[in-house]
Amino acid sequence: MYNITPPQCNNREDYHRISGHRNPVVKDRLFGLSAQVMSAYAKFQANALICAPTAPLPLQSEDAQILRNNYNTLDKGKPCADIREDILASADLGQCPYCRLNDATTLDHILPKDRYPEFSVLRSNLAPCCRDCNSAKELALRGNSVNDHLNIYFDKFPTTQYLHVQIVNGPNFVAFKYSLSFPSGLSKNFQRRIATHFAVHDLGRRYGRRASVEMSHIAGSLKALLSAGGPTAVQTFLDQQAKSVRTRWPSPEWLAVLWESASLDASFCSVGVMSLP
Ligand SMILES: [Zn+2]
Repeated sequence: MYNITPPQCNNREDYHRISGHRNPVVKDRLFGLSAQVMSAYAKFQANALICAPTAPLPLQSEDAQILRNNYNTLDKGKPCADIREDILASADLGQCPYCRLNDATTLDHILPKDRYPEFSVLRSNLAPCCRDCNSAKELALRGNSVNDHLNIYFDKFPTTQYLHVQIVNGPNFVAFKYSLSFPSGLSKNFQRRIATHFAVHDLGRRYGRRASVEMSHIAGSLKALLSAGGPTAVQTFLDQQAKSVRTRWPSPEWLAVLWESASLDASFCSVGVMSLP
């Protein structure tokens, strides 16, 4: 996971532009709700900066639905699709900030629009993410009133190491087991939310599977290095890989952790490499 700088935009302008594309009756109603929604936006921003919970606006169910439906104007081919495209474009290298495994092709409502219709088109409540992460979060929120999920715009993800991988060197296989272990100094609240993120997005299993794929891609090179220069050559290569990823992605990152742990694992750098498919 990684942070994205919060979108810089005029939220009032967005809201009025979107409202202007609705039918005249709905448009008037949205304009009537404008002051209430702008005040909710201001509270959202203030609370997000200090990671405090935000209470939903008390809305009539019809008004809630009208606000929720504003989001449809951001769909592909719809009048405000450019807002959706701008948010998707903010993903670094187009990758999902929740997992950094897949392309970010969808928008996640950080505060869900079912519960918070007033934030359905607020850019800083819309995170670019992959389909897998979006579905997993939606499922986790169903019937759960606690929103313990990380906010990629406002939480400052720690750079201290909390993600680890254990390399299991079997006789004919190598497996990669990811887990969390928190250093002292990281608040309990943050630890709990990172653990929730890890569990909801099934990152242990997904990282383990991708680690096997990544290793299999370079298995031939590693075996050649081992036979030409011994375990030291393998270690040096993996260490360089780790440094290169770490420079690009400073927060604890599954691929950097993989290269680092592999380079430090003497057993992997000798017999383990020969067991790679
Ligand atoms: Zn993802």
